[in-house]
Amino acid sequence: MSEALRPRPPVNRDNAFFFDELNAGRISVQCCDSCAELRHPPVPMCPACHSLAWSARTMSGAGELISFVVMHHPVRPPFQDGYIVALVELAEGPRLVMNLEEIEEDHIEIGMKIHVAVRAVDAELVLPVAVPAQ
Ligand SMILES: [Zn+2]
Repeated sequence: MSEALRPRPPVNRDNAFFFDELNAGRISVQCCDSCAELRHPPVPMCPACHSLAWSARTMSGAGELISFVVMHHPVRPPFQDGYIVALVELAEGPRLVMNLEEIEEDHIEIGMKIHVAVRAVDAELVLPVAVPAQ
């Protein structure tokens, strides 16, 4: 029997760059070519000025923990009981949802400094992962 893989994210022409950048080891978000607004998740139009022109902007990986949940139920492979889902605000402003790893639940604090790493979760999927900043 084959090992269960994480569900694949739906990739479309708006967000394909995000996953291409992750595959290249970078965390990037959309930056409006007209007003420089940074945005995530990817959408076709700038919510600030309605421009359709944008470019990918690489983020530093520095961030702050805004919120988190510890998932206990239901447990379904490949996820394991007690994994942590975090809302991280990048130093540049955009917020991303990702797993939080390398920390025990009792040590998590809202506002703690986060480093966003880029990790292969299996042979075909690379995702951002939050870890405590050193
Ligand atoms: Zn704009």
